[in-house]
Amino acid sequence: MVKTYLNYINGKWTRSSSRKTLNNINPATGEIVCKCQAGNAKDVDFAVKAARDKFKKWKSFPPPMRGEILFKAARILEERKEKLAKLLTKENGKNLEEARGEVQEAIDITKYIAGEGRRLLGETTTSELPDKFAMFVREPIGVVGMITPWNFPIGIPAWKIPPALVAGNTIVFKPSSDAPALGIELVKVLEEAGIPKGVLNLVTGSGSSAGEAITRHKGIDHLSFTGSTDVGTHIYVEGAKKLSSVELEMGGKNPEIVLADANLDLAVDGAVWGAFGTAGQRCTATSRIIVEKSVLKKFTAKFLKRVKNIKVGNGLKKGVLTGPVINAGQMTKILGYIDRGEKEGAKLLIGGKRMTGKEHKKGFFIAPTVFADVKPGMTIAQEEIFGPVVCIMEAKNFDDAVRIANSVNYGLSWSIYTRDVNKALKAMRLAESGLVYINAPTIGAEVHLPFGGVKGTGSGGREAGTEAIKEFTEIKSVFIDYSGRLQRAQIDIK
Ligand code: NAP
Ligand code: MG
Repeated sequence: MVKTYLNYINGKWTRSSSRKTLNNINPATGEIVCKCQAGNAKDVDFAVKAARDKFKKWKSFPPPMRGEILFKAARILEERKEKLAKLLTKENGKNLEEARGEVQEAIDITKYIAGEGRRLLGETTTSELPDKFAMFVREPIGVVGMITPWNFPIGIPAWKIPPALVAGNTIVFKPSSDAPALGIELVKVLEEAGIPKGVLNLVTGSGSSAGEAITRHKGIDHLSFTGSTDVGTHIYVEGAKKLSSVELEMGGKNPEIVLADANLDLAVDGAVWGAFGTAGQRCTATSRIIVEKSVLKKFTAKFLKRVKNIKVGNGLKKGVLTGPVINAGQMTKILGYIDRGEKEGAKLLIGGKRMTGKEHKKGFFIAPTVFADVKPGMTIAQEEIFGPVVCIMEAKNFDDAVRIANSVNYGLSWSIYTRDVNKALKAMRLAESGLVYINAPTIGAEVHLPFGGVKGTGSGGREAGTEAIKEFTEIKSVFIDYSGRLQRAQIDIK
């Protein structure tokens, strides 16, 4: 029997008023993992009403006690880690080791953010007038609409939901319909941990139905979105029309630079993991390897040797690095980019095809693909492919490598391999990106550091770390005059 998940609105698990469901497919096998509700505007409207009704009460609930609920949620997540990781691999395709890592990330951020219940720091400061005290405090924004992608089905919801909750917001959350189960399981955990009714609401469904309804709903004060740059841009415009604040975390085109003095074996390790982990479907995936001319041949030979031996398959199987891509549409899109790469004159070194052998024919598997002779202007060097495809590009020297690395409209993650400390520090300064790794791959964020990007990747804010709370709070400046007389700022100063 295939499990059917329900929506969670005002503390009740309910069917969508559409009376329809969506299938969550295992991209490795084509089997149905579970069904979820095909939520619509009516469901979203109920959810927003519940969230609005409960906002004032939740806002006045002491933040340390909100944090206690999150600590409990983290403990439940720990108990369920293995079960959740297996479900994650089934709905998303990434290998079990990575799935465990992602559930761990959800545990880590929940714990880290729970502690914010005892901080939620504002600032005190001076006043230009005597006998006057000044400070600012943080307050929740109100009802937050959250829309998340399939590539981190619990990691990304966990980056958004706990910080918004601890800050005192109420939520309407829509996970991706390609991998909704882990987001729903997270909501269940938070319910069990004691989040009051109506504070956290869940509506599953497609972007064009439930997603649009959240984006356009006037009862939503803030939109928090992670996904593609196209959809994010649309949400930004719709949010602006109703003056909602909007936080966007979007695509990437992340470079790994390999300088002539680099430890080449280490650089190869980083490139294999960065490009082919999660089948290249990470916002931080390595999609361009920019190699200094004098070591290009040597690096390419070492890299290809490793790529040849990558095990591609069902992520539940031991030894598999690269799983399937998420769905048929994404597979077609990636194969289209490969075709375009060849037509534009890049040299296909390995891969480039759908895998159709016995182990692969039921899923959406693409062989790990490496292009060489890729020039900065080519489509495959500019656009996010979001699959197991990587471009090798030649750089004349350090400056040329930096120029190529920055020559895209994205700015999420950036990596450089070098043993020259001066070049490493220079690169850190010159990188047009939100994350920089020195002698490490483009993937590998830690939850207590801010995460996000510049240019086409983000709208400026950051998630996680000390910034997480900022996204979900408004600032209130407070002046307390204890002089007992009228004091006029800017006028009565002596
Ligand atoms: P997507 O197609 O943009 O979808 C993201 C979410 O938006 C899904 O829940 C989707 O719903 C929903 N959506 C689609 N159309 C919508 C609309 N018109 N209005 C409101 N919501 C709508 O992205 P994806 O394919 O799931 O994820 C891959 C992308 O996410 C990549 O570009 C990747 O770089 C990016 N990403 C960025 C970060 C980061 O932190 N910077 C992290 C991870 C991923 P349905 O799919 O259910 O229809
Ligand atoms: Mg799925």
